Amino acid sequence: MTALRTPIRFARWRAASRALLRIGGTIRGRILLAFLMLSAITALLGGYAALGIATTGQLVDKTYDRSLMSINYARAAAADFAAIQAAVARARLATEPGERQAQETRIASLVETFEEDLGIAAERAQSARAAAEAASAKEAVTYWLAARREFGAGVQTADVWQALDAHAKAAEQHIDLLINFTAGDGFSYRQAARALVARDVRLSIAATLFAILLSGAVAWLLSRRIVRPVAEASAAATRIAAGDLAVPVPDGGADEFGALLRAMDGMRGNIAAMMQEEVAQRRSAQGLLADAVQGSSEGIVVADAAGRIVMANDRFAALLGLDPVEVASLRLADAHGSVVADALLAMWAHGTSAVERKNSDGRWLRLSRSPTRDGGFVAVCSDISRLKQQEDQLKRSNLQLDAALGNMLQGLCLFDADGGLLVHNRRFCDMFGIEPGALHPGMSLRAMATVVAAGAAFDDTRALDLLLEQEEFLRAGQSGALCRSIRGDFIVSVRQQSTAEGGWIATYEDVTQRFEAEARIITMARRDALTGLANRMVFAERLEEAAARLDEGRGFAVLCLDLDRFKEVNDSFGHPVGDALLKGVAERLQACLRESDLLARLGGDEFAIVQSGSRLRDDAVALADRLIRIFEEPFILDGHVVSVGVSVGISLAPEHGSNPEALLKCADLALYRAKGGGRGGWSFFDEEMDLELRKRRALENDLKQAVANGEFELFFQPIVSLTHGRVASCEALLRWKHPERGYVSPAEFIPLAEETGTIGAIGEWVLRRACREAASWPSGVAVAVNVSAAQFRNAAVVRAVMEALTESGLPAYRLELEITESVLLTDNVATLATLHTLKRLGVRVAMDDFGTGYSSLSYLQSFPFDKIKIDQSFVRNLDVTGNSRLIVRSVVGLGRSLGMTVTAEGIETEAQMEQLRLEGCDEAQGYLFSRPVPATAIHAQFERLRLKAA
Ligand code: C2E
Ligand code: MG
Ligand code: MG
Repeated sequence: MTALRTPIRFARWRAASRALLRIGGTIRGRILLAFLMLSAITALLGGYAALGIATTGQLVDKTYDRSLMSINYARAAAADFAAIQAAVARARLATEPGERQAQETRIASLVETFEEDLGIAAERAQSARAAAEAASAKEAVTYWLAARREFGAGVQTADVWQALDAHAKAAEQHIDLLINFTAGDGFSYRQAARALVARDVRLSIAATLFAILLSGAVAWLLSRRIVRPVAEASAAATRIAAGDLAVPVPDGGADEFGALLRAMDGMRGNIAAMMQEEVAQRRSAQGLLADAVQGSSEGIVVADAAGRIVMANDRFAALLGLDPVEVASLRLADAHGSVVADALLAMWAHGTSAVERKNSDGRWLRLSRSPTRDGGFVAVCSDISRLKQQEDQLKRSNLQLDAALGNMLQGLCLFDADGGLLVHNRRFCDMFGIEPGALHPGMSLRAMATVVAAGAAFDDTRALDLLLEQEEFLRAGQSGALCRSIRGDFIVSVRQQSTAEGGWIATYEDVTQRFEAEARIITMARRDALTGLANRMVFAERLEEAAARLDEGRGFAVLCLDLDRFKEVNDSFGHPVGDALLKGVAERLQACLRESDLLARLGGDEFAIVQSGSRLRDDAVALADRLIRIFEEPFILDGHVVSVGVSVGISLAPEHGSNPEALLKCADLALYRAKGGGRGGWSFFDEEMDLELRKRRALENDLKQAVANGEFELFFQPIVSLTHGRVASCEALLRWKHPERGYVSPAEFIPLAEETGTIGAIGEWVLRRACREAASWPSGVAVAVNVSAAQFRNAAVVRAVMEALTESGLPAYRLELEITESVLLTDNVATLATLHTLKRLGVRVAMDDFGTGYSSLSYLQSFPFDKIKIDQSFVRNLDVTGNSRLIVRSVVGLGRSLGMTVTAEGIETEAQMEQLRLEGCDEAQGYLFSRPVPATAIHAQFERLRLKAA
């Protein structure tokens, strides 16, 4: 059984020791064990101290209880005995029995107390001798008392009393011995107790010392196992923290410190690696920086607080005019005299961060300086010579731009992408009536509008409105044009366009004159300039309208009127009287009409009326009669009595047709009949008049043959330059020499040729012939060829022009094509394309008979004509009506602003020529210079006109 228990106990020990080792293997375990040991020592010490105190207590107890108390009781017994003796003495001396009895009682009580005290003293006696003395004392007292009682009964003699006293003395001696023994015992006991306490004190001191030693040993062990590694580790950590990565990290055990130290070691390794990497990176960054500084095209310098160069690149050395080696650690003050050094020193002294200086080599440098933390600075010197050059150039261009802006006829405002004013010119301020200094860069259009509003008249908001409208326009991101009247009659055309920079530019052009001219021309375009009546175009419109209403059952009559003997009046009294007559006639005719009727002058002395009514035929007859009657009274013109008549041709719609043109033709035919049937009458259209038509067809047929038969001839009329006085060009005018009818006017056959389509062949012939003739003229003289609208219906005209030029060898710039508005009336897009092609060939294009159509202006806009030919009707009336003069002036102005030559046709008098010259007309054409002449005669005209000019 015992044999079995031993291995089990051993195994338990082994397990316990292993657990202890495990616990002691960690710092926590060690601290735990140390504290357990210290606690055990403290407990032992405490236990021992408690034991000592308990023993001391017992000793005190014993000392008190036994020694002190037994002495006290012994003494008390001695006192009791003394009291008994006194009481006995008093009893012996008592005379009274009562007193004796009282003393006896007292004695008895005292004896009792004595015995009690003596008994206690004996009981607490600590030595045998004391106990023996107590017993002896008791016995002696008992004997003394017995003896007293015995003697008391007999005779009391001195002997007896002496015997008794001897007994009492013996008893007292016993009691004194008892006291002495008890005191001696107490002393010896105290001595023993003191020895015991002294031993305990020594033991305690020894135990405490042992405990201190043991605790010290435990603490030493603890510090050895914990504090020292901690101190070493913290020292190592402190050095690592201080940057000493070479410090050896002590090897740790398997405890936490071991782990901590290993982690520290790893950390140190990592920090060292990171630092190495960092250093490597810094080195490479520094290398790169140094390369960059060195390779920089700017001069770079770093100076310390003493103004000494700490670092500078070669470029900086070159700027100083020194060798790079000389620059290293040079004091800038020592380089005094160098532009760069002086500038840097001045900048440093005044705290300037950037200056520009011209170096001694003539180059411009910009020096930028930034202070460094050590009180020095780093400076960069850049060569800005190019920049300066560009700046100068820019300044020059700005000055030029300012000059250009200041002299511009147009107002101009340039805005940035945020709508802030960048540039404006004086003209803009003038136009809007504001002081030149009132606008500032950066102003918004709204702010400008406020300035404009402040300068405008109280109730005139037009200028302000225009700017606000522009603002809206721009907000919508639109480009384009606006045209508004802004002050008085002042009209301004605003064109605004976005710029590539995201801003926009607005130009303000004074178009007052152009507008007035346009307005006049537009009015004129619908009115006959002379009479103020509706013109052919308005008449055609009205005719169209009336024809369109035929379906509603509303018929109308067309009356064509032609003055009788008008040519005679013209010839005898001159054109002014002829014109005055036409005006008078117009007034009288107008007076005969109802408001619903329309009277128009179709040209010359031709008038026409559209009359609406319910009783068409009767109403027309009544009107015709009225019209004829009003001519019965002569006209008084310029002191002349002028009598003319009128013939009227009438056609009725729908009776004679519903086509406006046909109806007009019918009325025209009827007019011929009326004229033929004696003047001053009227005639309705009838079938017979078809004969006329047939005749016309015959003419058409003749026309078709005319080219082949060589019946055409080309005449030329010179066009003279009013500025140089020489022949600038000649207009080719076609003549048809009919075998039977003689010369037929182009005004008659050209429309016929256009209608029948023969114009193509005729036109080609004219082009060829004209170019061929012109090729023989002086090189400065061009040829103008009329091209009819019908020729533009296909692109054949281009080919014809090219062939004519090629065949003749005439340079394209010497060929001028005259077209009338009618060309542009139809298929505008195709016609414009053809015109552009012709222009690209180098051929010049002129607008003929300008002012007779109603859209002349819009056509001018649609094509860049080289020339405008003012219709002869304006020239004819030049010295008669102020209107014609104004129109001529407007057209001249218009032509000038559009860069077109202005030619006036039909000049017959010197006065007209002078007038035109004064108005600024460039060229003139008319009988005054020459009538159209055959090709053979043109050279003589050149000569004549050259001489004339000379
Ligand atoms: P136009 O092109 O306006 O030609 C000017 C007309 O005014 C010519 O009439 C010319 O003789 C006439 N004229 C020139 N100076 C004066 C003057 O001082 N006083 C007056 N009263 N008249 C003057 P013409 O030759 O009878 O031609 C009439 C129109 O026939 C031309 O007007 C032109 O439109 C057309 N025409 C003439 N030749 C051709 C042509 O070869 N082809 C085409 N398509 N049309 C032609
Ligand atoms: Mg012409
Ligand atoms: Mg003309």
